[in-house]
Amino acid sequence: MYQRGRAWIELNLSHLAHNVKQFQKILPKTCALMPAIKANAYGHGAALIGRALENMGISDFCVASLGEAIELRNAGITGQILVLGYTSPYQFSELSRYHLTQTVIDLSYAKQLNDFKEPVCVHVSIDTGMRRLGERSENIEQICQIWKLKNLRITGVFSHLCTADGQSAADHRFTREQISRFNANIDFLHKQGFSGFKTHLQSSYGVLNYPELNYDYARIGIALYGVLSSPSDRISAKVDLKPVLSLKSRIECVKELHMGESIGYGLTFTAPKEMKIAAVSIGYADGIPRELSNKGHVLVHGKKAAIIGRICMDQLLIDVSGLPDISSGDEVVLIGCCKDREISAANIAEYAGTISNEILSRLGNRLERIPV
Ligand SMILES: *Cc1c(COP(=O)(O)O)cnc(C)c1O
Repeated sequence: MYQRGRAWIELNLSHLAHNVKQFQKILPKTCALMPAIKANAYGHGAALIGRALENMGISDFCVASLGEAIELRNAGITGQILVLGYTSPYQFSELSRYHLTQTVIDLSYAKQLNDFKEPVCVHVSIDTGMRRLGERSENIEQICQIWKLKNLRITGVFSHLCTADGQSAADHRFTREQISRFNANIDFLHKQGFSGFKTHLQSSYGVLNYPELNYDYARIGIALYGVLSSPSDRISAKVDLKPVLSLKSRIECVKELHMGESIGYGLTFTAPKEMKIAAVSIGYADGIPRELSNKGHVLVHGKKAAIIGRICMDQLLIDVSGLPDISSGDEVVLIGCCKDREISAANIAEYAGTISNEILSRLGNRLERIPV
């Protein structure tokens, strides 16, 4: 297949290595990175990113689903892979077959795992305030009962923060509460004589805003890819993050648009003057939010070109009136740098009313992922 044909993703793996080093620098020496490479490594390509990270010496990963974990094993990843989400009892045999670590969702799920005939490696999830997965932290009796289950190899205990990205006093207070509940649980478990398990609490913003915390792992996702969730986010840690991903496409054709003519599905844009427009070979099926119709812009020849009309499944239209030498086949940048301009995933997210995590994780399968 001809690379960089229609629309593609370029992965800057030296930026990934740079981000890894940045986090290793701010985290305590005893804390290891456990990159979150779920959702196809936030759209970057799980196998490519997983292998690159393993080559950088990282040996622990987390994903959302069993299927994602198996895909990584099949891609040659040998380190620990923690499945953060639900695995059906029908698939428990795959956990041991692929040497995976499963999250214990609560006591009743722990019993289901225990009823499976073979021992399973697990990390126990504790709900300290997110109210998603995990036995509630105050149910310490139930949490302790998990340790009595003979078929579970408990190698980790973790929780998840839900306001670590916020800078308000209430956000800080809630995070501090989650931290102290988690620490109290860990102390209690140790006092019961339970040991030999690792602990982890922070994801990206947990590290970016509370870098002084000291657990065995940090489950970093979005920030490892070098972007913040929103361009306006303020963070406390001093880190220099470099975006790993660029998203590019090509001009398909260029044509004139006469004053008063309207374009695209629903004719939502009308030319206020004589214009030159171009069709670009990327659309919402590739992950460009349809929300950007008549809103966003792209970069061509180092200049901004507005997205006009409704974004289609496979194509979109742009205003290239100010660009004299434009022609079919020219490169279009949707995320990334073009000469001295840049569009970040967080910029697109802002236009679309979401966070960069959603924009990146929805980038489509049709896009080739090319390390550069
Ligand atoms: C997705 C996820 C992470 C990574 O989150 P980021 O904010 O992208 O760093 C960490 N832990 C859990 C439980 C998650 O679901």
